[in-house]
Amino acid sequence: VAKKERNTCKIYIPSMNDVPQKELMLENSLFKALEQGQFMLYYQPKIEVATGSIYGAEALIRWKHPEFGMVSPLDFIPLAEKTGFIIPLGEWVLHTACQQIREWDRMGLPPLSVSVNMSMMQFQQKQIVYTIERIITGAGIRPERIELELTESIFMDNPEHTLKILHELQQLGIKLSLDDFGTGYSSLSYLQNIPLHTLKLDKSFINNIVNDFKKQMIFKSVVVIAHNLNLKVVTEGVETEDEMRIIREHNCDGVQGYIYSPPVTAAKFAQLYMEQHLE
Ligand code: C2E
Ligand code: CA
Ligand code: CA
Ligand code: CA
Repeated sequence: VAKKERNTCKIYIPSMNDVPQKELMLENSLFKALEQGQFMLYYQPKIEVATGSIYGAEALIRWKHPEFGMVSPLDFIPLAEKTGFIIPLGEWVLHTACQQIREWDRMGLPPLSVSVNMSMMQFQQKQIVYTIERIITGAGIRPERIELELTESIFMDNPEHTLKILHELQQLGIKLSLDDFGTGYSSLSYLQNIPLHTLKLDKSFINNIVNDFKKQMIFKSVVVIAHNLNLKVVTEGVETEDEMRIIREHNCDGVQGYIYSPPVTAAKFAQLYMEQHLE
């Protein structure tokens, strides 16, 4: 290297590019938080509409910060995605969910499946299928008991490659669901090609639907399309009995929402699930 070039050479760390100082500090504390066991998973019951009973859980991450208390994923997942921290964090989430399934099995709970949210960046990992398989089989559970919740964003980068990955995951027996449907650029065209098990309608779909006839017609039509494509339909963010009435009327399969339960600790979830089986 010529002297002149060397003098102008700068240390370049990709993750520092455009990331303000405060976010860098936060990112450092994310790494520390993972080392120190400050993350935990909450579980929100998934309810079968026909029976009103719990058939599964969605794992939702929480950061139990020593000073700030419970930090919402909305406050740190975007940063984790921007910095790449989502890779180790996402692996921790899947691993922890698998361990939780084992634990519930040991407690004698009737078997259920757990949904785990995945970020687009995790799909850009070369070894993603291998990593997922290793974590699940390493925990000694059947892949059928894990459902991965994906958003359309995973198709932004390299749709053909993503589709190949999804087929490999499906072949392993892992269930796939399309999350946040009805937000952003969701398009029906995705439904034709992806090996999906479930379509999850975002809460914006159901909120304020009660006096909105057009919204109800869209809801009704999407459920029909999904069913014709052999997909289960789950609506998230259901809060009121009025919303439940519309959901029942249009034969949506599953719901999640405060009307039944917010996300709760693993212990509380086990209690809710047990109570139902004792009834
Ligand atoms: P999401 O996947 O759409 O999850 C649903 C969110 O709605 C959760 O927020 C849940 O607590 C909330 N919710 C559930 N029922 C109701 C309701 O009846 N009313 C209202 N208003 N909200 C309800 P949460 O737990 O804060 O998570 C926010 C987002 O953070 C999630 O949205 C998901 O995109 C992301 N996230 C959470 N955990 C993980 C994770 O482990 N990995 C990744 N990549 N993302 C995660
Ligand atoms: Ca989700
Ligand atoms: Ca959502
Ligand atoms: Ca989401």
